[in-house]
Amino acid sequence: MDQADFFSVPTYVGSTLSAEERSALLARPIKNTENIRKLVTPIIDDVKARGDAALIDFAKRFEKADLKQAVLKAPFPRHLMNISEQTKRDIDTAYNNIHAFHKAQLRPSISVETMKGVVCQRVSRPIERVGLYVPGGTAVLPSTALMLGVPAKVAGCPHIVFSTPVRKDGTVAPEIVYIANKLGAEAIVLAGGAQAIAAMAYGTQSLVKVHKIFGPGNQFVTAAKMHVQNDYSALVAIDLPAGPSEVLVIADESCVPEHVALDLLSQAEHGLDSQIVLLAVNLSPAKFAELERQIHEHTVRLSRSTIIQKVLTQSAIIRLNTVEEAFEWSNLYGPEHLVLHLVNAASYIPKIQNAGSVFVGPWSPVSMGDYASGTNHTLPTYGYANAYSGVNTDSFLKYITTQELTRKGIELLGPTVVRLAHLEGLTAHADSVQVRLRTKL
Ligand code: NAD
Repeated sequence: MDQADFFSVPTYVGSTLSAEERSALLARPIKNTENIRKLVTPIIDDVKARGDAALIDFAKRFEKADLKQAVLKAPFPRHLMNISEQTKRDIDTAYNNIHAFHKAQLRPSISVETMKGVVCQRVSRPIERVGLYVPGGTAVLPSTALMLGVPAKVAGCPHIVFSTPVRKDGTVAPEIVYIANKLGAEAIVLAGGAQAIAAMAYGTQSLVKVHKIFGPGNQFVTAAKMHVQNDYSALVAIDLPAGPSEVLVIADESCVPEHVALDLLSQAEHGLDSQIVLLAVNLSPAKFAELERQIHEHTVRLSRSTIIQKVLTQSAIIRLNTVEEAFEWSNLYGPEHLVLHLVNAASYIPKIQNAGSVFVGPWSPVSMGDYASGTNHTLPTYGYANAYSGVNTDSFLKYITTQELTRKGIELLGPTVVRLAHLEGLTAHADSVQVRLRTKL
């Protein structure tokens, strides 16, 4: 490893790494999950036991806010959503793009006659009560309110509640209230972290429990989502493990170093546990030096410089010889965001196996998807992109299947089912078919 002199982003030469070094490099800066679990469990238990009163106490402890009520119910007072006309227009533009992309994801019901007289159907239903977590610890993220609320609305979820940490004065960012109002949300839980997740999972005196919880957050939020999902008494689903933000950029000699630097830094600024990875493919010494200079120059000037500097130390630059090697690395890492600064970038899409969302070519910074292009920004992290999709319209729907057989259908398929049921020793299954085969209507 060659320790670069700009805020110590560890730099490696891919061809010199052993398999073990490679695996270590692909790991995320995850804190001790057992310790996080120990912190989160008592918080969840307290909310489960005391409801609103516990939420009010945790707002005091974590947000230093004095709350009179734990839940803000619709209709939301106008003065709490006081934002400029320009911000309204910007939110509306983002809303429209996200709406268009997520509406196109709705799928028609299907009906298939699998055999003569055997008709199977699949119909969708929106999840009735959804709880949407909007992070707010180190940054206010109204964009997340849009990314979760718009698909919920498109799917037709009738009961939407938001939850977000309050500011010190006990209020919620007016942009979030504006969005909640625009989406017809019923309530905003004035809580962050594990306590917010517990309130939505179990309900409180002033909140009906939800059926599914969505949203990104820090490690306390993610651990709490995992906890309630495994608690039968909560009977609640979660969207996906959407933890600390991360980005992997693949750049070749065609890249503009300043663009690459800012794509990396814009994910590094999310939080102390974020990670950025740059796969530099055959970059000339001059280009590489310019890239280092740009990372340095922008890091010192950016508003969240301290966070970024810490994130850079737990990140990596890996120098590789071919684009093919880069995609092998990227597919093993399974990045939340993948950015392609490559000649003919779009031609490489077929090589991508694991990624949350992909930003193709020189004019597609991650920020476009983070805010307004239309794709969703709640995406799998930690490498879960090898099995999970990001939040999408389907996340807010359930599919119900039906089957209807005619007399002819059961005559044709029944004997097969009887034999298969006997094979498994389930005689009631077999008999339920056989009695029908004997019945003359
Ligand atoms: P947050 O809202 O997730 O967490 C704030 C809450 O954390 C506080 O309200 C408090 O309740 C809790 N907390 C803080 N310290 C605690 C402690 N010691 N013990 C127990 N609870 C504690 O806000 P955040 O911290 O700013 O994190 C937001 C995260 O969301 C970032 O990591 C960011 O990268 C991530 N994010 C991910 C995506 C995605 O799609 N994966 C999108 C946006 C943001």
